[in-house]
This record gives sequence, structure tokens and C-alpha cells, in this order.
Amino acid sequence: MKIIAITLVGIICAQIFCIPVQQTLVSAPNSSRSIIADVPDSDSFLRDATRVPRAARDNTRRVQDLLARLTLEEKVGQMTQLEIGMVTSGKDQDIQIDPAKLEMAVVKYGAGSILNVSSEALSVEKWRQIIGQIQQASQKTRLKIPVIYGIDTIHGANYIKGSTLFPQEIGMAATWNPALMQRVTEIAAAETRAAGIPWTFSPVLDLGRQPLWPRFYETFGEDPYLSKVMGVAFVRGMEGNDILSPNHVATSLKHYMGYSFPLNGRDRTPAWIPENYLREYFLPAFAAAVKAGARTVMVNSAEINGTPGHINHHVLTDILRGELGFKGFVVSDWQDIQKLVSVWKVAPDEKEATRLAIMAGIDMSMVPQSYTFSDLLLQLVKEGKVPMSRIDEAVSRILLVKFDLGLFEDPMPAPSIGFATSDSRQVALQAARESLTLLKNDSAVLPLAKDRKILVTGPAASSLIPLNNGWTYVWQGDNAGLYPKDRPTIAQAIEARAGKNVTYVAGVTFDKEIDIPAAVNAARKADVAVVCVGESSYAETPGNITDLTLSEPQLRLAEALEATGKPVVLVLVEGRPRIIKRIADGAQGILLASNPGNEGGSAIADVLFGDYNPGGKLPFTYPRATNSYLTYDHKVFETEETSFGNAAFGPQFEFGHGLSYTTFTYTNLQLSQKSVPLNAQLNVSVTVTNSGRRAGQEAVILYLRDEVASLAPPGQRVKRFAKISLEPGQSRTLSFTLGRDDFSFIGADNKPTLEPGDFRVMVGKLSEGFTLQSK
Ligand code: BGC
Repeated sequence: MKIIAITLVGIICAQIFCIPVQQTLVSAPNSSRSIIADVPDSDSFLRDATRVPRAARDNTRRVQDLLARLTLEEKVGQMTQLEIGMVTSGKDQDIQIDPAKLEMAVVKYGAGSILNVSSEALSVEKWRQIIGQIQQASQKTRLKIPVIYGIDTIHGANYIKGSTLFPQEIGMAATWNPALMQRVTEIAAAETRAAGIPWTFSPVLDLGRQPLWPRFYETFGEDPYLSKVMGVAFVRGMEGNDILSPNHVATSLKHYMGYSFPLNGRDRTPAWIPENYLREYFLPAFAAAVKAGARTVMVNSAEINGTPGHINHHVLTDILRGELGFKGFVVSDWQDIQKLVSVWKVAPDEKEATRLAIMAGIDMSMVPQSYTFSDLLLQLVKEGKVPMSRIDEAVSRILLVKFDLGLFEDPMPAPSIGFATSDSRQVALQAARESLTLLKNDSAVLPLAKDRKILVTGPAASSLIPLNNGWTYVWQGDNAGLYPKDRPTIAQAIEARAGKNVTYVAGVTFDKEIDIPAAVNAARKADVAVVCVGESSYAETPGNITDLTLSEPQLRLAEALEATGKPVVLVLVEGRPRIIKRIADGAQGILLASNPGNEGGSAIADVLFGDYNPGGKLPFTYPRATNSYLTYDHKVFETEETSFGNAAFGPQFEFGHGLSYTTFTYTNLQLSQKSVPLNAQLNVSVTVTNSGRRAGQEAVILYLRDEVASLAPPGQRVKRFAKISLEPGQSRTLSFTLGRDDFSFIGADNKPTLEPGDFRVMVGKLSEGFTLQSK
């Protein structure tokens, strides 16, 4: 039975999720094994995804016609985004359109956009009722311009009741599977659109390189290239090939840029990022997603190098428009023009803040709770302090997105894809499974046999909240009553498989002891303890912490269980890498679940019992100590003994680490040439064999090192990857092509720099050097 289940999973994976293929099956001479060559890698995914035309039709003429008929007041209205409370009254499920407020916002002020959830997720019907009334009001305006409604669809349509919820981005990054990412956001888009909402404030393309930062789980991790590939996949799934389709929504790339790297780790605090590093690390994901057709961009709510994101003309206009050629519109983040006065103190009053932000490149202000923006902008234009040309530019961009989305024809089309179908749930389960990352498995403690006596304990075992984290039904994700009743927690999913052999004892909450001795007693009677620890839910500033260490009660629970001598398996349910140094060595097994979503309980049980073979790999470096954090692309000397005592780097688990129940062997790393002419391409091939006894998936990651460069080079950078499935004994030869862009870096002059010299390609434990010639 177990074998059949595994095979089915393998087939589903091969057919639906693994990177689309034109695979050539080649028989290996003198072997019963087959070799499959030409498996497309991350780069072919990127190339295909960015080749698709942006808009199915050209709406520029319509935009110009309409713009010519708009008054200044109407134009400023289009640039105004208000939150839902500005048009509604009542709370929670009793929220209703307030006709007087609606009239004021949409008819009198002509607000071009409304956003957000009031307090909690609403049903599709309720959303359609509310947005339908908003659109009806927009039809009472002189030129009948529809409102563009926007919402945070972060890990599925999380503000719509009953929607399909997927792993948070950090978990999706661990899948290393962009095709799966794209499938996930196709579903999220259709479910968002079903509620009458055509615009999502996602993906988050900030890099997760500061683990204290409370939005770490919203990112694709620390690597720019992985974030770029997954970000492009996210956008392709959301926007589709034709954004006019009722199954798709416009995206907003956020938070452009450098928001995720605060010096002190707290949300919305300053970052110092020199421009060459901004371009090397933080820009590529945004640049690629713009190329893939993303319609809107949301701005960094903090500051870099002393300049708040919202007045950064260089970033918002010179780079975004001038260099990336972005044609969509730029929306501010929450209240961020007002915060230029109250927080950042770069303007004495809101009027000057408005001028600075608009002139820097903000097209729409997420005001969102007053009418001051419209009034002040109107005055600024009348006084000649903001030119009409700048207003026309912003409004044209907003109208273009509205036309491209088909809002003028039908603001609330019904998707042709069902809402929360069994297929979408299956995709969510598969995404959750692929996100799980097995970090440690000593003495093959996993998979567990179902007839063993199992203690399940820890605060993450008995709730769906930590499995989802923030942005789930409510902003902070913490309203238990809103979660579905029919999705198992980890404890329930384990019980469903191993029945009476399972005992559950809570032991501790996330921050308090309940009864550790009770858990210890239960462990003594069990064969193994599955200890589910981590974090409860949080989003943005409320998630700030001052210490990355896992909470003391949870550490004590795990230590007490480890002291019994019974094997301990830690399941880490957390949005950022909490330090587990005290309990990592004593545990035989460690499974990183991150935030896998509502199917997470089932997926974790599947992996614990071996019904699914894990293949996730870490998209970030898991630190061992609070003050010893480095990313994988650190300098070579940082790990060396000879470095004047500076060998600080000894992570708990390295970036890219992830175990399987089978083994993969890498052989035959070959470079097409050892001496590469300056502008030539280099082909790299490697054979990966499933050398174990069961089918499995492997993310093959290719790293490149520039041995000597004018800017001290990182020890390695990810340049390509491919996720493959292999049956036992099966091999695949993968080939990757590297070129100029891969060999260059952003130099001290902030420009791409290509320097001849020695390089090293690394895949698995294999490595080969080559020399880039000067001509
Ligand atoms: C967040 C954004 C989000 C917006 C609207 C802000 O506080 O920074 O990421 O899109 O709120 O909810």
C-alpha cells in the first residue's frame, strides 16, 4: 500500500509539477538504467516566462482619450487609494457598505482604488456584494471609471473564506520548484478574482538576509537568483498570459527595494546598502519580475542610506523607469506619505511630503484613512509645485492597468476555474510536502513505523495557526475561530495514521510551561517523541523580536525529552530560523516545516511516516548562534582557520541543505571548455543518480565562484538549479549553460563588470575550474 502511494505521488509530481520538459530519453550503454538529458533548468524557466507578451492588446489610445477628458480633481482622485473602512461601517462579518461614506469616497472624491480587508476574511459572496456596490458607485461618476480593488493575497487568497492556502513564500522557496510556484499562484489568482478583486499586493521580492526581521517568512529566502526565479513564477501564475482573463489578477512587486535588510532587524527601520550591493543583491528579482510583466510595484516602507523609499527618485524613477523600463504604476505602502513627516522627518508637513513623494515617482498613494492627500495634491498642482505632466503620467499608468484588466468592460467577471476545488487542495498538499526540509536524520530515525508508540508534544502540534502564520484570515493570523475545522493539525494527522499508538501531551505553550513532567512521563512509555516547536503567528511590526533563540519553555521541553534517552524528532514550525543549538545535537531527527499552510499537518505526517519522501532544501542559512549569522555567499576567508580568528561561520545548517529518504550521487561534472573566450558560453553537465532504494526528488544547485575579483568576491553564488525526480537506480544528466551575465558582478562603479581570470563551478560535492580569457 505504501509503495503504491509513493509511486502515485511520483507520477503526479512528474506530470504536473516538475519543470516542464522536452526530455530526451537516452538508453545508457551496458546498463539497465536510463539517462534523461536536457532537463530544462531554472534559466529556461526564466527565459520562457519573460518571453510572453505583457498585454494582449494595446490600450494606450483608450487611455489617452480618457485622460484628455478628466478634470484635475478626477485625476487626483485616481491617484488616491483608501482603505475599506472609508466606505463601510460595522465589524467583522457584519461589515456593510455605508452609503454616505461610499458617496464621499468614490463619487465626491473619485478615489481610484480601495484596499484591504476590514478585520477578517469574508466569503466570496460577501466580497462580491461589497465590491459590487463600490463599482456601482463608480458608475455614478461622470466618466464611470471603475475602482481597482487591491488586497494582500500572500499565500493563497488568504482574506477570502474557504480559499486554498499554500505555504508562505519561504516554504515555496524550499521547494526549488518554479513550475509548482506558478501553479500555486494560478489558483490564488482565480480565487482572488472570484471575490471581485483584480489586484494583489504580492509577491514579496525582498531578500531574507536578516533573520530577525519579522517578515522573513514572506520572502523567498536569502539568494537573489532563487528569489528571481520564484518571483517570476509567482507573477506568471498571478497575471497569466492574458491579464484580461477572469482567472488572473495584477501583481504588485514589493517592497521596492532594500526593505528587508534593517540593521537592527526590526520592521521599518533603516538599512545601509551601498548602490553596488543594492544592484547585485536586491534589484535582480524586481528587474526580472518587471520583465515578466508585473503591472504594479509597491514601495519600501523604510529607508536606505538615509533616504526613505517613498522619496527615492533614483530608485523609483531613474532605475525603475529609466533602466528597467517599467510601464505599470507605483503604489505607496500604508500611510507612507504621511510617515515622511511623522516618522522619517524628511518633510516639515504633509504637503511637502506629498510633493516629494509624487515627484520621486509615486503614482498612487495608499493614504488610506483621510482625504488630505487628494486635497494637498490638488493645491500643489494649482500652485505649480507639481507639474500637470507628472499627474498625467501617473494617471495614464493607473488607467492602463484598469483597461488591461478589463475593468471597464466587466469589473467583476466570474472565473472559469472553480473555487477551492479538490484539485487546488491537492496542489496545496503537494506544495506543503515539497516545502518540507529534512535537516537531520541520524540512525534513520525517520521514517517512523506506524506501529511504534509515538508521543506528540509541543505547542505547534495542536493548532493550524503556526502552520499558516500571519496574513491568514486576519492580518496577524491569530483568530482560531476562522480556521477550517476539517484540516488536521500535526497531532491529528499523526493520530489519523498511527491511531492508538499516539499520545498527545501539550507540555508547553510557545511562551509558558504547562506540564513538562507529564510530557516526560509520556515519553518514557513511548518509542519516539515528535516535538513540534517554533513560533505562533505574527505579521510586520508586532512580530519584532530581540532574540532569535527559540523560547525558553520550548527549549526546556525538548531538553527534558532528550534526557529520557528516547529518540526525539523536532518539527520546526516557524517563520524564521529560531536558534536551536541547545537541542539540535540531542535530537535524532529535525524536520523544518516553516509555514506550510492548512495542508501542513497532513504533509508533515506524510513525511514523518515516509508516505512522502522529502526533497526540500534550505533557501537560507540556518544560524547556530544568535550572533553568528552569515549568508551562504560569504567570503571564503570567513570559514578558514587562518583568518586571524575571524572564522565566525559555523551555521547549524547550510543554505541548500536538505535530506531525503534516498541518496543521490553526483558524478561526471564536465565543462565544455577549460579556457573560455570572454564572450563565449560555457556548458556544464553533471550526472545525478538516485543511489538509494526509493524514488525521490532532488534540487540540483549549481554554484559559481569567482576566484579573484576587484571587489572581494563571495565564496559562491547560485547560478542555476533544476528540480528532478528519479526512480531508484535512475540517472539524469543535466546540462546548464553559463555566460557573460553569470561571470560578471556589479563593480564599485555600480556597473556590471566582467573580469577575466579563474572561476570554479560547484555542483554537489564536485567542482571544476576554468579560466575566462581576456578576449
Ligand atoms: C504592508 C504591505 C501591505 C499593506 C496593505 C502594509 O502595512 O507593509 O505589505 O501590502 O500594508 O495591507
